[in-house]
Amino acid sequence: MLTYADALKIVQETVSTLPLQTLPLPNAAGQVLASPVRARWDMPRWDNSAMDGFATSSQDLSSSASLEVVGSSFAGHPYDAVLPPGKAIQITTGAPLPEGADTVIPIEDCSENSGILTWSTPVKAKQHVRYRGEEYRADEVLLDTGTALHAGAIGLLASAGVSEVQVHPRPRVAVFSTGDELVELGQEPGPGQIVNSNLQYLCARLSECGCVVIPLGIGEDRREDLDQMIDQAKSADLLLSTGGVSVGEKDLVQQTLEQHDFERKFWKVAIKPGKPVLFGLLNGKPCFGLPGNPAATAATFELFVLPALRRLAGLQLEHKKIIATLQHQIKGGNKRQAFLWASCKWQDHGYQVEVPQRQASGQIRSVQGANALLSVPIGSPDLAAGDRVEIIPLHAPS
Ligand code: AMP
Ligand code: MG
Repeated sequence: MLTYADALKIVQETVSTLPLQTLPLPNAAGQVLASPVRARWDMPRWDNSAMDGFATSSQDLSSSASLEVVGSSFAGHPYDAVLPPGKAIQITTGAPLPEGADTVIPIEDCSENSGILTWSTPVKAKQHVRYRGEEYRADEVLLDTGTALHAGAIGLLASAGVSEVQVHPRPRVAVFSTGDELVELGQEPGPGQIVNSNLQYLCARLSECGCVVIPLGIGEDRREDLDQMIDQAKSADLLLSTGGVSVGEKDLVQQTLEQHDFERKFWKVAIKPGKPVLFGLLNGKPCFGLPGNPAATAATFELFVLPALRRLAGLQLEHKKIIATLQHQIKGGNKRQAFLWASCKWQDHGYQVEVPQRQASGQIRSVQGANALLSVPIGSPDLAAGDRVEIIPLHAPS
């Protein structure tokens, strides 16, 4: 059977990157920059006041104890003349400092009477001035390729007049679940029925990963129903289904896909959980049939779908692999590479990893709270506390 490493390589070789997008800055929040962004101007754009108060020249302060106030520079309403020697103007925070002024006396430290300004505390030359370009310079690279556009980045780029950015695209992912036993969340399951938790899981995880999710609901275990689902999914960049890919009589996903323009790349990988995972191209677009057992759905998402999404988005493909120290004994490997839901933390200068005892592919509980998948290689002996193991951290790609 295909190993995980070989299967992942097939995913890498099969999925190609979507075109980069140019978006208005507000629409790009949360996305990742695909090219560096430069400032359009100096910031601040001019020398300006950091306080509300009075602006004057530092040279006049030593020679006189009072100054005549001859005008004002308010934010948005600059004083558009040269400040004459021996004079002051009223100024507000952010307002341009006129030529001839280099110092601001805060309003709290002075008083003005009939146009004459006096001050109560010593004034340092050039105090409370924000200089042109002290934050960044015109044409300076403000953010590099690969930066995630969080709120701080959006604010920074907006300040620099950047109204459009080139970003890695958000893949549009269609998802459906299959199974006659499934009911949607909110419906009370009858005898023999269960809630379609996989769809909820995948939609949540896809959103965390920055995808545009197209949930298609439940397909019954009938060709005609699955046909419809597949047709609806064709407009997406990637198709995901859960359930119906194993060898049971009602596992009809693969057979149905074959009636469409489906090119199978692999089916079944030597992993546990998730062995029956199916991968191919549907109308040239990546298509995954994930197994229905909830922990298998979740594991195969991390192991195969996430790398495919990264490739679609043009982001780095490899999982980060981390070596951690096992905290307790676990069973060794068999003929399949095992991936265990694990909890990993940084402690005593290294990563320490623990695995909840009860894990089964049919149980979603161990997925909750896990922040890593621990890999147990094929044929590995039992592992003991203190052994060094390989883990894949789980987080949204950036
Ligand atoms: P299957 O892969 O269709 O053979 O399903 C394997 C197991 O996963 C069965 O116990 C199913 O009831 C369960 N299962 C399948 N689909 C879902 C789903 N969408 N949500 C929760 N459990 C599911
Ligand atoms: Mg089924």
